[in-house]
Amino acid sequence: MEEQGFFYRDTWAEVDLDHIRTNVEGIKEHLPEDVEFIAVVKANAYGHGDSQVAEAALEAGASMLAVAFMDEALALRKKGIAAPILVLGASRPEDVNIAAEEGIILTVFQKEWLGKAREVLKADSSLSLHIKIDTGMGRIGIRSIEELKSAEKLIHEDERLQLHGIYTHFATADELDDSYFTKQLALFREMLGAMETQPPVVHSSNSAAALMHTDARFNAVRVGIAMYGLAPSMEIAPELPVELHEAFTLHSRLVHVKKLEKGEKVSYGATYEAPEEIWVGTLPIGYADGWIRRLQGQEVLVDGKRSPIIGRICMDQCMVKLPYEVPVGTIATLIGSQGKESISINEIASKLETINYEVPCIISSRVPRLYRQNGKVVDLNNSLL
Ligand SMILES: *Cc1c(COP(=O)(O)O)cnc(C)c1O
Repeated sequence: MEEQGFFYRDTWAEVDLDHIRTNVEGIKEHLPEDVEFIAVVKANAYGHGDSQVAEAALEAGASMLAVAFMDEALALRKKGIAAPILVLGASRPEDVNIAAEEGIILTVFQKEWLGKAREVLKADSSLSLHIKIDTGMGRIGIRSIEELKSAEKLIHEDERLQLHGIYTHFATADELDDSYFTKQLALFREMLGAMETQPPVVHSSNSAAALMHTDARFNAVRVGIAMYGLAPSMEIAPELPVELHEAFTLHSRLVHVKKLEKGEKVSYGATYEAPEEIWVGTLPIGYADGWIRRLQGQEVLVDGKRSPIIGRICMDQCMVKLPYEVPVGTIATLIGSQGKESISINEIASKLETINYEVPCIISSRVPRLYRQNGKVVDLNNSLL
């Protein structure tokens, strides 16, 4: 296989950048032409690889990137990404000079923040800002027209500050019942209407809203989960107007294969007992890789067959019951397809009783990421540094 030689361990994730590009293009086709695509690449691009996804998304038509923290924006700059980057979360006002120097756009989420930022910002610098309105998410953001007006004034009277955008975030855009969504949207419109001048970029939609609510796009959308090929929720999955392609797959190779006699045990606690003569394989992946102990019993694909994880998952290894004897070195697919069988991120999320967002995020940095580009597996881990 092509992936050998990049690292010294038989476990890796494969991120299909062709799928990321197809997803961005598909979503863009569904949007009016004057709506900007902001690619959300926080949390190492939901575990997929920040700069690799950022470059693919920008090539496919995204015009801006969004991250949660300033550190994530700085990491992208270090890797040579020059596109505009918006920090969605709270940054410390003490750190505004770094943002200004690196051309990073910060979020204003309270007027006191602006006061402190203005005190520390160097005389001849220029800082671009988006105001965040809390219309009902209850996380961060300005909550009254009065506060919005004074924030707007504080920005306009300071030559060093540029009001580039304004936004809000929906709490229920991924649900079919749109009553709370409608209230948030109305409140956002009311707040916008109270401003002296509307900033150039106005945005409210995450993936779910961008795909499901044509009335909330304004002139930009912030797309995360759908770009990675995943539905924002199981509830709206059947209703999505765009076909999405999962980009993240996870693989390992059997490093040891053996026959167990009836009654022989497997793993810590010796809780698994072979019910008859069986073939067992060992995989070099465990809970320190994010393949957590709750995944005991989950199946993986070996030789195109579903093979359950037996016994407790260890920190670095786990064992699977094989359909029959297979050679050491055989690939086991933990997320992805083999032949006609396929294990989706949604299947893993359902086993873990969580949402699909969490799954690629918790696959730890110990698992190397390889990239599929123009149909070929490539190592992009060093080329961008
Ligand atoms: C994470 C995030 C997004 C992206 O949401 P998806 O559901 O992944 O599209 C958009 N906006 C904000 C403020 C976020 O925190």
